[in-house]
Amino acid sequence: MTRITVAKGDGIGPEIMDATLKIILAAGAQIEIEEIEVGEKVYLAGNTSGIAASSWDTIRRNKVFLKAPITTPQGGGYKSLNVTTRKFLGLYANVRPCVSLHPFVKTKHPVMDIVIVRENEEDLYAGIEHQQTDEVVQCLKLISRPGCEKIVRYAFEYAKQYGRKKVTCFTKDNIMKQTDGLFHQVFDEIAKEYPTIENEHWIIDIGAAKMADTPEAFDVIVMPNLYGDVLSDVAAQIAGSVGLAGSANIGEECAMFEAIHGSAPRRAGQNLANPSGLLQGAIMMLTHIGQTEIAEKVQNAWLKTMEDGIHTYDIFKEGISTQKVGTQEFAEAVIANLDKKPSTLKAVSYDKETALNLPKYTRKPAAKKELVGVDVFVHWPGEDPNFLADKVRNIATSAAKLTMITNRGIKVWPEGFKETFCTDHWRCRFKPSEGSIITPLDIVELLNNAIEFDIDVIKTENLYAFNGTAAFSLGQGQ
Ligand code: NAD
Repeated sequence: MTRITVAKGDGIGPEIMDATLKIILAAGAQIEIEEIEVGEKVYLAGNTSGIAASSWDTIRRNKVFLKAPITTPQGGGYKSLNVTTRKFLGLYANVRPCVSLHPFVKTKHPVMDIVIVRENEEDLYAGIEHQQTDEVVQCLKLISRPGCEKIVRYAFEYAKQYGRKKVTCFTKDNIMKQTDGLFHQVFDEIAKEYPTIENEHWIIDIGAAKMADTPEAFDVIVMPNLYGDVLSDVAAQIAGSVGLAGSANIGEECAMFEAIHGSAPRRAGQNLANPSGLLQGAIMMLTHIGQTEIAEKVQNAWLKTMEDGIHTYDIFKEGISTQKVGTQEFAEAVIANLDKKPSTLKAVSYDKETALNLPKYTRKPAAKKELVGVDVFVHWPGEDPNFLADKVRNIATSAAKLTMITNRGIKVWPEGFKETFCTDHWRCRFKPSEGSIITPLDIVELLNNAIEFDIDVIKTENLYAFNGTAAFSLGQGQ
């Protein structure tokens, strides 16, 4: 018996949760349910996080959380409960299978069986943003080695456990050589540990186009957070319907399972909603807690029901569907099919041991890190980079000299193009002068001099070499 936390959520949430629980309990799921309240009521009671402190205790104690969609009220500083939950509980892996149910659910892609494994905690979603000048704001894209190792290893272990043949990595490392470059590099390192699983890397733009056009070319796809957020919705949609997909959010301690759609408030309370997305989440939950036989039984009964043409309104099509049913009738139909298998669609068969066995991250020995320069970012509303260079050169120290100025990453001094559009946000790169080394004291001196010469420094960014390799981007055109 496994104790799980359940939240029925808002809108169609309670109906689809009741249907889902009814199906899995009828299949013999050994679960004990502890219910908590999250979402709209909690938000409107004045809790901007949508969840009470005591509910966190329940989630952390039980470690397994099945969550129906919630309504996030518009405006008012309400925080997304999903994002908060993922970050607080360290749910680093978001797993979303997207399978076509052709010919029973209309899709342009009859052959499609993809699992998107999305990094869930970092990247631009670290949410570190600043306005720096009148014209420029920034969002920090943070990618860490532990973050990459954990998610890439998860993707390969998932592939191994579920008998998948290939893991593909999507990044944009031709442009973001440091951040996406690290993700790709870690992918290549870890792929070597799984010689029986094919691996490949695609640049995200052409990879995404290929996935949308020829999804049968892919199996498991692993990617950083933002790309995964966008492409997992694309994948679910082109498989047939976002209403049919579930997702798992997995951490080292806890896990959360849900449907990918929202609370569909306009459909609430009418016995109309399709419970399939949440049911898919619940099936992933059952495999996660080791109840794989039950998971298999429910999945095959669900496939059989889809195949029988017993469909809720959202996927009902004359000529394909045989019966239009409501939420409750759909659940009853799935229950009646427990112990049956689909005949056209591929029946699933889960290994007894589907709980993934992932090693803890171990930190590598520190590299030799050298300070080799500093970027001083300046707010300056002027136009001529040569003028700025003359001004900024005044702050140089005996060891640190101005070598380059860029604007939005493009080199504008020395020898810039007059056609390059410039904002009020300038990066002034200082490197060691001939025969010198830069120390942190030079940076302090640069900043002191900047005050003296009335230069508006927004921030500095140190330039490092790790084990002798420069670890920062060059200016575009440098
Ligand atoms: P939505 O997913 O709720 O609805 C989009 C469309 O799909 C609607 O036409 C809806 O009727 C239909 N639909 C969705 N799920 C369905 C189902 N199970 N059966 C039948 N039809 C279904 O997206 P939305 O309208 O943009 O958002 C509504 C609310 O849900 C918002 O408050 C949003 O913040 C919230 N939301 C919550 C989650 C979550 O809790 N995980 C995710 C997304 C959106």
